[in-house]
Amino acid sequence: MTAAAIWSAEQMSDRPRVLILGGTAEAIDFANRATEKYDVTYSLAGRTRDPALPAGVSVRTGGFGGADAMVRWMAENSVSAVTDATHPFAAQIARNAATACRTAGLPRLKLLRSEWQVQSGDNWLNVADITKAASLLPSAGRRAFLSVGRQEISAFAAAENTALVVRSIDPPDNTDILPDATFITGRGPFSISDEIALLRDHDIDALVSKNAGGDATYAKIAAARELGITVIMVERPPVPAGLITDSVDTALTWLDALFG
Ligand code: NAP
Repeated sequence: MTAAAIWSAEQMSDRPRVLILGGTAEAIDFANRATEKYDVTYSLAGRTRDPALPAGVSVRTGGFGGADAMVRWMAENSVSAVTDATHPFAAQIARNAATACRTAGLPRLKLLRSEWQVQSGDNWLNVADITKAASLLPSAGRRAFLSVGRQEISAFAAAENTALVVRSIDPPDNTDILPDATFITGRGPFSISDEIALLRDHDIDALVSKNAGGDATYAKIAAARELGITVIMVERPPVPAGLITDSVDTALTWLDALFG
């Protein structure tokens, strides 16, 4: 190894270690930018078979084993700060991260994209959870398009007299729970014109969505507005108390203020 390479490696190890809880586009953006100054570990639950990843960071996959185990993992890996950039509906890991950071005395920031807001022409039925969403079928629509994540489809086994079209990134493991449903796969971003065509092709009259926010999957909402389709919109779970931003720039400023 050359002297320059040794110096560079030492400098790398001196950099503050940041744990990014990921699984979202903004987590990848944040990780790609944070790695210029910080020693980043990008953490995934391991749900998606071929996940998008940031470049030039360490990646760890799989649950920690709860909040106490996360405290141990962070100590063993000399973590100095945590950014929880998980999906708005990933409520358990958000709670665990908040508890673990409080226990360990580590700074934590939640990077959370803004919610979609209802617009003129939208016909949304807001519901608290997936079970409530399923209970509105078939009264809200007899041919429903579900894009709620493959882990969530079991709630729709109770939706009788409703034709279901289910889209997920990877095929669900439990398709047998909805024997009459049509399953399709797809990963955003989607275009509005493609979403309109898809909803028309399947003669959809109700769309079930989580209020995920962000651009990558918004086209279905715009398409539903265009076609006058009812949207059963699942509201977000509560966010643990603490610092929160929807801006990657602000999250980077937060890190720089901690370690700059
Ligand atoms: P969750 O219900 O909040 O978490 C369940 C458990 O999965 C956690 O307790 C934790 O296990 C593990 N886990 C979750 N996220 C993790 C991460 N980034 N790194 C390490 N372990 C993690 O989460 P989820 O809804 O299953 O989401 C899992 C992942 O998929 C997240 O990274 C999230 O950003 C992404 N995602 C979720 C959705 C959604 O709609 N929920 C949509 C798109 C992407 P232990 O308790 O064993 O530590």
